[in-house]
Amino acid sequence: MIVMKFGGTSTQDAPAIANVVEIIKAHLHQKPIVVVSAIAQATNMLEKIGKFAADKNDREARETLTQLFSRHFTIIDQLIRHITRNRNLRSVLDAMREEIETIIKGVTILRELTPRTLDTLYSYGELLSSRIVSVALQDHGIQSEWIDTKDFMFTDENFNRATPYLDIIEEKLKSNLLHLVNNGVVPVTQGFIGITLSGRRTTMGRESSDYSAAIIGAALDVDDIQIWTDVDGVLTADPAVVPDAKKVKTLSFKEAYELSYFGAKVLHPNTMLPAIEKSIPIHIYNSRRPQSTGTLVTAALPSTSGVLKSIAYKRNITLISISPQKRIGQYIFWEHIQNVFTKHGITILASVTAEYGYSIAAEEKQTTQALLQDLNDVGIVSINEKKCIISVLGSSITQNPGVLNRIFGSISDFNINMISFGASQFSINIVLEDGDALEAVREIHSELFGEVFTDDIFEVLDQQKKK
Ligand code: ADP
Ligand code: ASP
Ligand code: MG
Repeated sequence: MIVMKFGGTSTQDAPAIANVVEIIKAHLHQKPIVVVSAIAQATNMLEKIGKFAADKNDREARETLTQLFSRHFTIIDQLIRHITRNRNLRSVLDAMREEIETIIKGVTILRELTPRTLDTLYSYGELLSSRIVSVALQDHGIQSEWIDTKDFMFTDENFNRATPYLDIIEEKLKSNLLHLVNNGVVPVTQGFIGITLSGRRTTMGRESSDYSAAIIGAALDVDDIQIWTDVDGVLTADPAVVPDAKKVKTLSFKEAYELSYFGAKVLHPNTMLPAIEKSIPIHIYNSRRPQSTGTLVTAALPSTSGVLKSIAYKRNITLISISPQKRIGQYIFWEHIQNVFTKHGITILASVTAEYGYSIAAEEKQTTQALLQDLNDVGIVSINEKKCIISVLGSSITQNPGVLNRIFGSISDFNINMISFGASQFSINIVLEDGDALEAVREIHSELFGEVFTDDIFEVLDQQKKK
């Protein structure tokens, strides 16, 4: 049994979904369970619809809704040839559209888009795409059943970033899904969305469909979790920034976790957690080039001590520095600061301390007024906005003599605000000006990976060789 997750770009239009059907067909012997994201941009459009409605901009909300549905109807008409199937699917979509219209009315009246309502709105993206993919499989002669996550993906009530209840999910999946798969049926379900015990839709954070796939994979102890996306695997940098990035053939779970934590969008960081528990390999494949071998993320790797594998970056970072008002005990000062960060749920990307100073790098969107107010009670706070954090990832990084020289030599023209090195064996983190982010990633990449050729770890991609 395997899980195959297809992201938004893999299902963005009718040809893309037809391609997904072919890919699934080629894996039928492995008993796939299919997890899909919303079609490209659908989640953003649903969010816009909600915001327009909350702003009483009913016309824009409806126009965006019309665009969203016309994209889905176009896909259906180009893809589903069987007349009854086509008609039935259209009426399923009509019903969903009516439900969304009712939500828009409610939000417009209340002029408020709560996290709970936003999750209900978000859920339609994956509900729509998964319905279409399931019927597309049937239309191509493959037995498929559409499975609603409301029957198994139970979570807490933390809307917009819900935590799944893994034990309940495992029990439900085993009783609801196993017999289908064993009878040759391909279940198609949704990534990203879950359900509370009282039946309210939740989501597990933007981009979390990869995580959903891993949860399902671990619950059913599958042989492989496959993430099908629009790139050849994990590369030495984001190919949108560094066009000649090389493919990394294998990564450990820990390397992949840190890489995604520090901004590589190709995998949601949580994806690795359920996979580690059950030691299930994760493959990242390109749905546009299904013949390519992808990247394998696994526990069983030969030691690659000291090898640098990739560069990640995050933009819109804020540096927060705090020093005490008066000289209280150092440990008491730190405890106060940590309490504030814990209270506000701040994800600290990097931190440095001096005798009486503490600086952290956090995402700008987490740096709220409420946080700053609480920090002001603890000490003197200074804020530096518009930074980025660049992370160089690998294993046993401190065992790589000269690596710091090479990295800092390549970005000697840039203003460095903070460095974090040594706390983790897997990453070196550097905070720079936000405007320098892309150029600095390219410079570091050219220094570290410019000369890397195909070997046991890296692969120069075919499309680059032709250049
Ligand atoms: P999906 O919709 O399939 O989930 P995403 O857009 O979430 O796809 O993730 C794929 C994207 O991740 C790629 O298009 C690429 O631009 C980006 N990316 C960032 N860092 C990396 C990296 N190190 N390797 C590969 N892709 C990366
Ligand atoms: N559709 C969701 C999003 O855009 C989840 C995902 O794509 O992974 O965030
Ligand atoms: Mg993604």
